[in-house]
Amino acid sequence: MSFPTHGTGAISDAGSANALQELPYDTPWEVYFDDRGSHDRVARLKQLQCVECGWNECNKKINKLKEHVETAHGLHFCDVCLASRKVFPCEQRLYTSRELQRHMKLGDPDDPELYNKGDQRNKRTPSWCTDKP
Ligand SMILES: [Zn+2]
Ligand SMILES: [Zn+2]
Repeated sequence: MSFPTHGTGAISDAGSANALQELPYDTPWEVYFDDRGSHDRVARLKQLQCVECGWNECNKKINKLKEHVETAHGLHFCDVCLASRKVFPCEQRLYTSRELQRHMKLGDPDDPELYNKGDQRNKRTPSWCTDKP
C-alpha cells in the first residue's frame, strides 16, 4: 500500500484504518489518496479520452477510442506503443498516417530519447517500439 501525497497533513500522519476508509481509494492500483484533488487528477489521466476533442464515451475500450480518433480526426495510435509504452492513455501519441509510418521506421524527431539515428534508420521497428522487451 502506498500514499501518494504532497503534504504531511493530519490524515497521512494518522494512517489509522478508519481514516483510510474515508479516503478516495483507487481499486486497480490499490493506492490511497489523501486528497481528493490528486485522486481526481489521476482518474482523469487514466480515463480513455480523445485528447483532440475530449470525447470519452469509449467505455474504457481502447479499440473504440482508436476508431474515434481515426474517423473523427484522421489520426492513429501506434499499436505497439499502446501495448508497450508505460504511459497514461492520454499521453499516448496520435499520428497521421505519414507520421505513423515515420514513427515506426525512425521514432519521433521531437522525442530525442526515442529517436533512432544514423545506422538504425534501416531497422524496421525501433527497439523501444517492439513487442519484445
Ligand atoms: Zn475526438
Ligand atoms: Zn510506437
